[in-house]
Amino acid sequence: MSKLKVENLGKSYDGNVILENISFTAEPGDSIAFVSPSGSGKSTLLSMLGLLLSSTTGTVVVDGQDSDALGDKELSRLRRETFGFVFQHTQLVGSLRAVENVMAPANFAGKLPFDARERAEQLLGSLGLADRLMHYPYQLSIGQKRRVSVARALLLDPPIVIADEPTNDLDADSSASVADTLFERAANGGILLFATHDRELASRASRVMHLEGKTFVER
Ligand code: ATP
Ligand code: MG
Repeated sequence: MSKLKVENLGKSYDGNVILENISFTAEPGDSIAFVSPSGSGKSTLLSMLGLLLSSTTGTVVVDGQDSDALGDKELSRLRRETFGFVFQHTQLVGSLRAVENVMAPANFAGKLPFDARERAEQLLGSLGLADRLMHYPYQLSIGQKRRVSVARALLLDPPIVIADEPTNDLDADSSASVADTLFERAANGGILLFATHDRELASRASRVMHLEGKTFVER
């Protein structure tokens, strides 16, 4: 189980302030929805929370470790051991089959469990993709690719799952199975942080943060 503490986080691009002054903590069992208009900074925030993007101000503290004080190697270890990330644009590897994509990050990190293949197939099956295991990304619909990317984020059971609009492009049934799979992690002591424009998905979160000015506040 992990704990996340966000202190005074902000991001500017070329002197333009996109986000500022974001502070909150997330405890095991929390699911937090980030809701704001398109282009206002959700993906930017999630990338900073997942230690994929450096902040302009403030810091993210993971289990007492201040990410700002870590070198590249320690930062990538902390990122790998803590987070599973569902990207807004899925970011699958085009030359790998669905099941191989699910295993790719763990494989790349040299952390593939002995039963990885079985778990990957199981996850894909639970997301309605049992008959698409061997398909390449170009043979999948956008909604199917999104579900593969959800399975990839969950393979190693990360303590914190970050999901950027995970139900985009999905029909009601697939959307519900993705949501069930994600919220189940939080229910079991994980942390789920996600961005969405989907009111129904946001309503399932234990906490919701909205944009006010350039900061996200809970209400
Ligand atoms: P959406 O709901 O459409 O996904 P979002 O809330 O996720 O939008 P972001 O992708 O975080 O929004 O973008 C926030 C702002 O930051 C946008 O105005 C965008 O143009 C700007 N931005 C993002 N990345 C960069 C960058 N690398 N350089 C300059 N500006 C950037
Ligand atoms: Mg976005």
